Amino acid sequence: MSPREVEDRLPQFECTKCGACCREDSMLITVTGRDIARISTALGLSPEETMRALDFYIVDDPNTIPIGLQGIPSPSTERGSAFIALRKMENGECIFLKDNLCMIHTLRPIVCRSFPFVFQEKGSQRKWGLSAVKQICPGLGTGSKVSEKDIEDLSALVLESIKTYHEFVDEWNSLPTTTARELIRTILSDPRFFA
Ligand code: SF4
Ligand code: SF4
Repeated sequence: MSPREVEDRLPQFECTKCGACCREDSMLITVTGRDIARISTALGLSPEETMRALDFYIVDDPNTIPIGLQGIPSPSTERGSAFIALRKMENGECIFLKDNLCMIHTLRPIVCRSFPFVFQEKGSQRKWGLSAVKQICPGLGTGSKVSEKDIEDLSALVLESIKTYHEFVDEWNSLPTTTARELIRTILSDPRFFA
C-alpha cells in the first residue's frame, strides 16, 4: 500500500471517555505479561490477589478465535489453553471501572491504551485495523485524523509487549502443564516483564 493510501485510510479518532469499551460484555480485556506485572506491582498485589483480578478464558477451538484475539498467545493451564483477561463483574463491566472512570488509568492494559486499534506483525510488515465500529466506540469519526506517527508509535508499543509475552508463552507451553496459579507466579517473577 502506498503512503497516500495509508493516509487515506487513517480514521478520525478522539476518545470521548464514554466508558463503553470498559462495559462491553462481549469484549475481553486481555492482558500481557507486562500488563500483569505492571498492575500487580503498582497496586502492591500478592500473586493471590493478582489472580482475583484476572479471569482465564479457555480456548475450546483454536479455529474459532475472534479476529481481535488471533495475535494474542494463550498459555496452557490445568483447564486448557487460556486467554488471560481482567475480570469482569456480573454486568459485564471491568472490575477496575468505578463511576464510569478507570481506577488504574495510568496502569491500564495495552489493549485499553490501543482500543479501538488492533495490530499484527507478519514478517517485517506491521498491519493495523479497527476492532470496533462507531456504534460501539463513539470516539471513531470524532476529532482529528489519527496521524501515521501515532499509529506507528502505538503499533511499536503493542507489538513489543505481545512479542515478549509470546516468547514467554512459547517457553511456558513447552513445559509440563501446571496450574493457572503457578503461571501467574511465574509471570510475576520473570524479569522480562519488568524491563
Ligand atoms: S468506547 Fe471509544 S470513545 Fe468510549 S471510552 Fe472506549 S475508546 Fe473512548
Ligand atoms: S482497565 Fe480501565 S480502561 Fe481498561 S477496561 Fe478496565 S476500566 Fe476500562
